[in-house]
Amino acid sequence: MTDQPKAGVSEPKPTKTPNRRAATKNTKKQASSPKSPARAQSSSRQSVTRLSKAQIDEMFRRFQEALPEPKSELHYYSPFTLLVAVVLSAQATDAGVNKATPALFKLADTPEKLLKLGLPKVTELVKTIGLYRSKAKNLIGLAQRLVDDFGSQVPEDREALESLPGVGRKTANVVLNVAFGEPVIAVDTHIFRVSNRTGLAPGKTPLEVEHGLDQVVPDKYKLHAHHWLILHGRYVCKARKPECYRCLISDICLFEPKTPPLG
Ligand code: SF4
Repeated sequence: MTDQPKAGVSEPKPTKTPNRRAATKNTKKQASSPKSPARAQSSSRQSVTRLSKAQIDEMFRRFQEALPEPKSELHYYSPFTLLVAVVLSAQATDAGVNKATPALFKLADTPEKLLKLGLPKVTELVKTIGLYRSKAKNLIGLAQRLVDDFGSQVPEDREALESLPGVGRKTANVVLNVAFGEPVIAVDTHIFRVSNRTGLAPGKTPLEVEHGLDQVVPDKYKLHAHHWLILHGRYVCKARKPECYRCLISDICLFEPKTPPLG
């Protein structure tokens, strides 16, 4: 799931669906496929093309049809274990985090237990995850804050969440969306890329894309938009080579040139 990756910490789910024939043709070319805010910035010098309201509605109708109840791929079973998993997932894969968290959660599935475990043991338990030393420190720090200031509960409030060590806007949005069912979208590298390539919500920064998505994604799709877009970016609209030939929104997407079928 993802924040603006913070130094040392911070975050952030397939449906193989058949390609669909052109229902909506758009011949305008999208600049290029931005892999990062910096690249998006250079491409933004070209004219930005955007999907229409009807195209966006159709896009999400298809996402919903293909995967009605998308879920986080991080393993968790409470707001606290979700928060820990999302903090650990910054600049790491969900699969890598899921390998480490069972042993950690067995010993420490509450802030108090995590504090009792102590930094050396927490560090040892997460050592297979990138940036584990700083992440372990942040976990101890956020557990302490939860105990001291929030009655050992994960706050259901963006500002409070962002005040915790290792928690940026993206992590806060993931927790708000996944744990508390708020219709917010956490813009990670996948959502940033898909939003720019498709013309859904072009933007130079993750925050600009987040605001754009908030404006254009229909309310009825907002709760699950986060996961649909992440899954689409992770499994179909991949960074290096988007698999346009099997993409369920290829006739809507503005990105050109589309990747042709293999062989
Ligand atoms: S995979 Fe789909 S969304 Fe991504 S660039 Fe290709 S057609 Fe567009």
